[in-house]
Amino acid sequence: MSRGLTNTKEPMKEPAKIGRANLPEGKVLCEYCSAKCCRYFALAIDIPDTRTEFEYIRWFLLHEHASVFTEDGDWYVCVHTTCKHLQSDNRCGIYHTRPPICREYTTKDCEFDDDWVYDQYFETAEQVEEYMEAMLGLTADKIKDTQKKKFRKLSIRSVKPNPLAIL
Ligand code: SF4
Ligand code: SF4
Repeated sequence: MSRGLTNTKEPMKEPAKIGRANLPEGKVLCEYCSAKCCRYFALAIDIPDTRTEFEYIRWFLLHEHASVFTEDGDWYVCVHTTCKHLQSDNRCGIYHTRPPICREYTTKDCEFDDDWVYDQYFETAEQVEEYMEAMLGLTADKIKDTQKKKFRKLSIRSVKPNPLAIL
């Protein structure tokens, strides 16, 4: 969240991206980042067990710039929208009064590296509908306990195909 940077009136030329391991001594990783963590917010949501809860998630995804992902069994709604106070030079415009969540966030394990992979990722209402149907069938209102264990961590992505034989 442009953390560790102070606000200046002079626009800063964005430096070329570097690898995390190549961070020059005395520098802050955020100086080499396009402030990715200031461009969305994610909130934990109830793990859906019922048709009603799945319908809420479907409704989330009828909105623009929303996605839903799961990580370690927990579910989150993510809104891909940029903070109003992010400046064009990727620095925080309210650095000295930024909220605690921005102050507490650190570069350790942040999204700088572009290597984030979610357990499950839903981008459209149709994906949720398909998943709901797989979990509940066409008529059930609630997921059975036996189904929960089986499906909870399954990816909704297609399995990686086997490579074709080279003839
Ligand atoms: S207030 Fe906005 S711009 Fe500043 S650090 Fe937080 S999310 Fe980023
Ligand atoms: S994603 Fe990481 S490196 Fe980029 S601004 Fe946020 S904390 Fe800094």
